[in-house]
Amino acid sequence: HDLAALGTALTDCRSCPRLVEWREEAARVKRRAFADWDYWARPVPGFGPTDARMLLVGLAPAAHGGNRTGRMFTGDRAGDVLVEALHALGLASRPHSVHRGDGLELRGVRCTAPVHCAPPANKPTPGERDTCRPWLARELELLRPTVRGIVALGAFGWQAVLPVLRAAGWTVPRPRPAFGHGARVLLPHSGDGPELTLHGCYHVSQQNTFTGKLTPAMLREVLGAAAEEAGI
Ligand code: SF4
Repeated sequence: HDLAALGTALTDCRSCPRLVEWREEAARVKRRAFADWDYWARPVPGFGPTDARMLLVGLAPAAHGGNRTGRMFTGDRAGDVLVEALHALGLASRPHSVHRGDGLELRGVRCTAPVHCAPPANKPTPGERDTCRPWLARELELLRPTVRGIVALGAFGWQAVLPVLRAAGWTVPRPRPAFGHGARVLLPHSGDGPELTLHGCYHVSQQNTFTGKLTPAMLREVLGAAAEEAGI
């Protein structure tokens, strides 16, 4: 298995009945602005180079964002905010993320989510998170030769990725480190794996960016520091 094959296998997953229904329902009902779109309506694979040094772990695709366009952080405001920041840091080839065929390329960074299907109200259940965990674990395993930093976008991503890291041999402090914007935890590997740094960043959700809880400058600061530390 490589990352491309993993993505192909992922898109056939139907393990969470509630999410299968939701992702397909969104494609039937659509949003008026996207009436002409043929929605993806399947699990959305990770996006970015297969030798990424940094992995961004979000929450889940949005019903009319990634679930419509078929690519992580593509086609909604959250994606725009993230890709603008990546572009400003030289980590994305263009400042906008419109569709999976738009030619956008990321440099050194890969985006994924602990839940690969759009959930109602953007809220996956703990059970859905656990069901989807093996996909994240496998992606991380395939990135292990190159990945040196992880940025958790939001507390959900932070809490989802810690058990995956622990199971893969990274030493996660006990009690578990708490999520916060700008939080930074060094994770040594108990075997022959590389040391990883986990960074916390508020999620790029419209709620956070609209209220100013997360400003573009705050986002660039965490992403820039994480990228530098990961050697990008
Ligand atoms: Fe499969 Fe993950 Fe989608 Fe659940 S959320 S159906 S485990 S891809």
